[in-house]
Amino acid sequence: MQPLTNRSKVVVNKKMSLYEKIYLPAILSGMMITMSHFFRKKPTIQYPEQKREFSGTYRGQHVLKRDENGAERCTACGLCAVACPAEAITMVAAERKKGEEKLYREEKYAATYEINMLRCIFCGDCEDACPKEAIFLTDRTVKPENNRGSFFYAKDILVEGTEKEKRIDVTRRQTAAVLEFKKHKEFDHNR
Ligand code: SF4
Ligand code: SF4
Repeated sequence: MQPLTNRSKVVVNKKMSLYEKIYLPAILSGMMITMSHFFRKKPTIQYPEQKREFSGTYRGQHVLKRDENGAERCTACGLCAVACPAEAITMVAAERKKGEEKLYREEKYAATYEINMLRCIFCGDCEDACPKEAIFLTDRTVKPENNRGSFFYAKDILVEGTEKEKRIDVTRRQTAAVLEFKKHKEFDHNR
């Protein structure tokens, strides 16, 4: 029968030579390959004691930012939740009361804000959608857990601390285009 391609090979059923029959050379050559790997640079690292440097564009655990005075930036507009392709974000909005100006930057704030880290695909769409620069992805990794409930990250984990040393630096996530956008006075409400 005419073959469809010329890739087929004729199988030769030739007898094994004595050299091939004793198998030792083949075993030794296999061991040489194994042993050569002992002297190569190990590609694995002892995580979590050792950590690799992440790329500048790495997107890890989210942070909900505070402004320079320590007030929460999030105004519970819900744009991040709408933009999220994994439907990982939920929140409940509340109205800021008199005397809470130092806690919340806007008149409306997120009384609860939750991200389901098991759903999240770390795409960064929430960060792009946020008009208040309230949510950013960081170079931190989500910790491994034994139960699913621990992956629901609420404000106690997401909101950064007020102290200087607990602030999360997000400058490398603020692209030149974003910084340029912030200069426009007509977009003041988006700061
Ligand atoms: S990074 Fe993407 S998937 Fe994760 S919460 Fe934000 S928008 Fe949703
Ligand atoms: S994080 Fe940003 S987009 Fe999401 S609710 Fe808060 S202000 Fe709106």
